[in-house]
Amino acid sequence: MSRIVFVNGAFVPEADAKISIFDRGFLFADGVYEVTPVVNGRLVDYDAHMERLDRSLKELRMAAPCPAAEMRTMHEELVKRNRLGEGIIYMQVTRGVADRQFNFPKDARSSLVGFTQTMALIDNPNARTGVKVVTTPDIRWLRRDIKSVMLLAPVLGKQEAYEKGAAEGWMVEDGFVTEGTSSNAYIVKDNTIITRPLSNRILAGCTRKALFRLAREHGVRIEERAFTPEEALAADEAFLTSASQFVMPIVEIDGQRIGGGQPGPITRRMREFFLQEAQKA
Ligand code: PMP
Repeated sequence: MSRIVFVNGAFVPEADAKISIFDRGFLFADGVYEVTPVVNGRLVDYDAHMERLDRSLKELRMAAPCPAAEMRTMHEELVKRNRLGEGIIYMQVTRGVADRQFNFPKDARSSLVGFTQTMALIDNPNARTGVKVVTTPDIRWLRRDIKSVMLLAPVLGKQEAYEKGAAEGWMVEDGFVTEGTSSNAYIVKDNTIITRPLSNRILAGCTRKALFRLAREHGVRIEERAFTPEEALAADEAFLTSASQFVMPIVEIDGQRIGGGQPGPITRRMREFFLQEAQKA
């Protein structure tokens, strides 16, 4: 089925959607994006995603493409027009169309596109078995707190993981895990969840933020500190979070089984809390 997508103010069939070859997103990856989950036709954690979008735009001195209310309408209309029950909305803002020059163009208007992708978020079969990860060097720039569309390093990292039979790459810098190529990284030791504190070296995941709240509500301890791949191998459990995977158990790191090769109890509990909340959003 052909989707209805959003391009600069208009809802059109995907085959009719057009963006200029002079768009700075295309030429420079001069843009930012958000991925918002949809469950039962409703947006999950929408406000957190829009807060992060505003921050990304500010950090890059990029204009907001439209007022907040219009952004919400775009998301809701995309769900409605595509009858999306479960999946994600991808939205992207770029600095707009201008003759190719590195410095910011004077009067370019931001481009805004949005589209839907159907995915099984709740009943994701990977969550039952858990997934494998491999470690890979973190070769990204130092503003990973900005959700920019400049994703070549994560593309290479994810491809390497796939070629090694794993679902995700855990990136390593100065001997410590930063995060996954498209997710945040966690281990569990002695009933405590351990994850890296926020900084310019990782993206502030919206799912991470929700996880922290749920952990607090349910009395699960979280320690914010960086951990090494060696520590991860000796952990009781490991998992990742992202908008499209929620809480995903990890059962193998670099070919070594974690927690007996089964999704761990704290990971499963946290996923369950998340699913309950997403389903009543
Ligand atoms: N880190 C990186 C590098 C990511 O690309 C993502 C997913 N966009 C995340 C973390 C997780 O963020 P979120 O929970 O908001 O999807």
